[in-house]
Amino acid sequence: MSAFHHEKVLSVHHWTDRLFSFKTTRDPSFRFRSGQFVMMGLASEGKPLLRAYSLASAHYDDQLEFFSIKVPNGPLTSRLQHLKEGDEIVVGRKPTGTLVTDNLRPGRALYLLGTGTGLAPFLSIIRDPEAYEKFDRIVVAHGVRWIADLAYGSYIQDDLPNDELIGDLVRDKLIYYPTVTREPFRNRGRLSAALESDRLATDNGLLPIDRDQDRFMLCGSPAMLADIRTILKARGFEEGNHGEPGDYVIEKAFVDK
Ligand SMILES: Cc1cc2nc3c(=O)[nH]c(=O)nc-3n(C[C@H](O)[C@H](O)[C@H](O)COP(=O)(O)OP(=O)(O)OC[C@H]3O[C@@H](n4cnc5c(N)ncnc54)[C@H](O)[C@@H]3O)c2cc1C
Repeated sequence: MSAFHHEKVLSVHHWTDRLFSFKTTRDPSFRFRSGQFVMMGLASEGKPLLRAYSLASAHYDDQLEFFSIKVPNGPLTSRLQHLKEGDEIVVGRKPTGTLVTDNLRPGRALYLLGTGTGLAPFLSIIRDPEAYEKFDRIVVAHGVRWIADLAYGSYIQDDLPNDELIGDLVRDKLIYYPTVTREPFRNRGRLSAALESDRLATDNGLLPIDRDQDRFMLCGSPAMLADIRTILKARGFEEGNHGEPGDYVIEKAFVDK
């Protein structure tokens, strides 16, 4: 048996000249948990060209969805960005990753902090009814440089609350908090600053962040993860993993080479 499923591209959406997303068929035997990633890429002669990718789709969806960067001269994405309907990609059979709610202690609010394509795993989580059963409120905070980079903003704000399956839960519990660093916007600055000043909670009408009650998932650049981890650790939050649930969990959105 091959280590990969071969899937067909069903649609492609270009958000900006640096960001795009696409949907593919899904092998019925492929299972994953909201927040996980998988090896994905292109079959070429010889070895397939693969990279780690978060699964942005809901675990119950019959399609797969990926949200991707376009890295100039990037071995995979310089080709992947030209995908069109009907093309084939390969998807590893073994999803994995730490951004799953089982790795967190029970809590009051779940804060999902993602920068850039680090939003991708959270798109899966905010479509999962189980996440809403576990937490009273879910804040999905997306940090980007430019307003145009706020991919999925109108989907989260306008479409998801009207979703047939989870619209009611989303309307009651989900808060979308986009932030922009490089041009004027209603929330300006880095997610780390919004966390440190408690604006992340108070701007959203929530009680100040509390180690005993609030939980975090982080997905971003190595620098963003280091900054936020420092803030959380200083406030007594403990990192969780597969062996031991904690107050926060972390995944890199990419590796700097
Ligand atoms: C656990 C995990 C999950 C990931 N999930 C995603 C995802 O859902 N979507 C996605 O686009 N990428 C994701 N990545 C990054 C992905 O694996 C590749 O690095 C990316 O697709 C670029 O591939 P490449 O071959 O074109 O360039 P690479 O040679 O892989 O990367 C070249 C350089 O580009 C920069 N870079 C790579 N990816 C990104 C990114 N996403 N945002 C900003 N800068 C980047 C880095 O500086 C990197 O060193 C993930 C990485 C990890 C480790």
